[in-house]
Amino acid sequence: MTVGAEWLEDHIRDIPDFPKPGVVFKDITPLLGDPKAFRGAVDALAGHFDGHRVDKVLGIEARGFIVAAPVAYGFGAGFVPVRKAGKLPWEIEREEYTLEYGNDLLEIHRDAVAPGERALIVDDVLATGGTAAATVRLVEKLGGVVVGLGFIIELEFLGGRKQIPGYDTAALVTYR
Ligand code: AMP
Repeated sequence: MTVGAEWLEDHIRDIPDFPKPGVVFKDITPLLGDPKAFRGAVDALAGHFDGHRVDKVLGIEARGFIVAAPVAYGFGAGFVPVRKAGKLPWEIEREEYTLEYGNDLLEIHRDAVAPGERALIVDDVLATGGTAAATVRLVEKLGGVVVGLGFIIELEFLGGRKQIPGYDTAALVTYR
């Protein structure tokens, strides 16, 4: 199914001052709850990487999980959760990334991506790019190869792509 960016955008809700003053939160729950929009977004993200070998699809906690899992299923690939600190039960690799105020940690299980495996990274929003760049570093620490990164939304004015130069990056709806 092919869906246009403008039509998808109609299923994204702006929530001003959430979770804190000054931030406009992009709420994708209307998109997820609409059968045509959900399927269309998943198909469009997967479609961008059509023809590539994908062994693992990584979803970034928490909304990334929702989109990454059906993309993985479609590719016949495995799904890998990339989680906030302290959530994964086994041995981990960890990367720090910068937030607006301070730093945070992302973690992955050490055996989640094997050396040489090809990994696609999926999240709901590309904002400043810190989260995406940390996830790229996690894949490469494990010896994996990043096929590319897919997002439903890109906040282009925050310049996130500069943090992931040279990687094939797809976004379905771009806010300039
Ligand atoms: P960043 O590391 O700045 O690119 O932030 C990306 C992460 O933060 C993603 O996992 C998003 O889910 C979340 N995020 C950042 N900004 C927003 C926003 N305006 N609306 C919704 N989620 C956001």
